[in-house]
Amino acid sequence: SQNSQKFEFQAEVSRLMDIIINSLYSNKDVFLRELISNASDALDKIRFLSLTDKTVLGEGNDAKLDIHIKLDKVNNILTIRDRGVGMTKEDLIKNLGTIAKSGTSAFLEQVQQGGDLNLIGQFGVGFYSVYLVADYVEVISKHNDNKHRYIWESKADGKFAVIEDTENEPLGRGTEIRIHLKKDASELYAEETKLRELVKKYSEFIDFPIYLWASKEVDVEVPADEEEQAQDDRPNDEETAEEVDDMREKKLMTIKETQWDWELLNDVKALWLRNAKDVTPEEYDKFYHSFTKDLSADKPMAWAHFNAEGDVEFKAVLFIPPTAAPDLFENYYINKATLKLYVRRVFISDTFDELLPKYLSFLKGIVDSDSLPLNVSREMLQQHASLKTIKKKLVRKALDMIRHIADEDPDEKLEAEESNEDEDNLDEDVDSGVKKGKYAKFWEQFSKVIKLGIIEDAMNHDRLAKLLRFHSSKSGDKLISLDQYIVRMKPGQKQIYYITGQDKKQLEKSPLLENLLKRGYEILFLTDPIDEYLTQNLTEYEGNKFQNASKDDLKIRSKYDQARTKEIKESYKELTKWWKDILAGENVESVKVSNRLANTPAVVVTSKYGWSANMERIMKSQTL
Ligand code: ADP
Ligand code: MG
Repeated sequence: SQNSQKFEFQAEVSRLMDIIINSLYSNKDVFLRELISNASDALDKIRFLSLTDKTVLGEGNDAKLDIHIKLDKVNNILTIRDRGVGMTKEDLIKNLGTIAKSGTSAFLEQVQQGGDLNLIGQFGVGFYSVYLVADYVEVISKHNDNKHRYIWESKADGKFAVIEDTENEPLGRGTEIRIHLKKDASELYAEETKLRELVKKYSEFIDFPIYLWASKEVDVEVPADEEEQAQDDRPNDEETAEEVDDMREKKLMTIKETQWDWELLNDVKALWLRNAKDVTPEEYDKFYHSFTKDLSADKPMAWAHFNAEGDVEFKAVLFIPPTAAPDLFENYYINKATLKLYVRRVFISDTFDELLPKYLSFLKGIVDSDSLPLNVSREMLQQHASLKTIKKKLVRKALDMIRHIADEDPDEKLEAEESNEDEDNLDEDVDSGVKKGKYAKFWEQFSKVIKLGIIEDAMNHDRLAKLLRFHSSKSGDKLISLDQYIVRMKPGQKQIYYITGQDKKQLEKSPLLENLLKRGYEILFLTDPIDEYLTQNLTEYEGNKFQNASKDDLKIRSKYDQARTKEIKESYKELTKWWKDILAGENVESVKVSNRLANTPAVVVTSKYGWSANMERIMKSQTL
């Protein structure tokens, strides 16, 4: 039509749509989940606005925050309608076509490398998945603060058009998406049963009611037909005339009738409001996948569902993801925590980084608090005193959840030295339902998080130190905890010995450790670059000091008494002096006699407060 304005999609968006519409990808279910998730986001937005201004909700049907799905089987059109915040003309142009989001190119790259189309929602371009099933789409929308209604339409041919809508029935606030199903897609999706199944499967945790226009068979009572009545109504001798009259009126029959109505598909009671005891592990898994938009089969490693009472009340569900996000450490200081914050069931934000410290930002989950005010600005909310308490409790629970993984892992059982391992293991295999090595898996993905925690969070230092694991001179292929180290300490040993370096094999052979090893002390091998920073913040554990075995101040109890030690030192004085002079002032601070070595004649060590050789290596590689 004449008033229709034409636009071209931004180049990358156009490429993306091209790939989607031509995709041979067989599982196209994802589109429905993405559109429902957009509807839910739009509803969240209007509900949020209504906190400070009730009038935005309007009256009548507008005030109902819900989602309606309807099929037109004659024309193969599937319609999804929400009463969310809606889009202005500018919104339609920008959000659905001209602005490429940062995720667009990342997603293109993924798909071209054979990645999963299912993950589209995580890249912020979920809307376009509608072209998996459609060859023509209309989006009709009325924004909350605009009188006019606009239609966006596109056949995914590089162009789209926007026009003011004057044809359709007056539509209140919100968005209606009309999906003209492709032929092959209509066979599958133009079926109420299929839609019902998909909503149940993927959108179970959407907390707005989702209705489907559907038919059902109902029993209705209709007056029985007259002939039948006449037959049956022949009065019996015993019956009075009155009774016969009565029966005549009541003579009805039941028949099946098909009725069409809006059928509610989801149970809108939020999972976190339920009693943790009543929620099954499968439900937690599903919930995790639905709100993270992660449809992979990998289950979260653990979860904690709790209810904080007292001065500050809130409910929360925290999850440890199955793997660390690829950019977790790359963008450590930019990444935001992704907990979803609700206040009294109302979604407020998922970019609120006051809820968790940086190092725990890898956790996923939701927090719903009754103690925070609803009708205030984000800025005021961020400064609210209760947030500090919430954060403190969340950190505790998160660390408990991690410790719990270790507690339940039979591999983590403390063992005194020389225990009969084989026998022990046999029993554990039978008794424990927990998969072995679960904590090792956690550690593989998230060890850096715990170490960063020790560096950043002095308040929880001890709790975090309990979660550390290291290789050691006695641990073989396993990792050990500091508690395990302490259990195995030699009588009279007061220090926890460690050495930093690049790899375990190399460290095992280090002459720096000769005598310690010979005397049977256990030495921790710290081979992660971050360990150098860790040891600056980790100086003591349960009253035992940490001692870097590559440093000058390592003291091993001598087999000689003081007088004899002094004598030995005296006798080598000339040699050590000569040596120091030769190596000239700046290269070497001092040359000493020590009992560190067993076979090697001499070794270079670093001074107590200087950088270890490993640290020098790290610093050099960083400045290069
Ligand atoms: P994302 O949802 O991750 O932002 P999408 O591609 O799914 O990415 O949607 C793009 C944008 O289009 C949304 O951010 C939103 O602004 C807008 N949008 C999509 N669907 C709706 C809707 N039903 N109501 C209001 N706005 C919508
Ligand atoms: Mg979306």
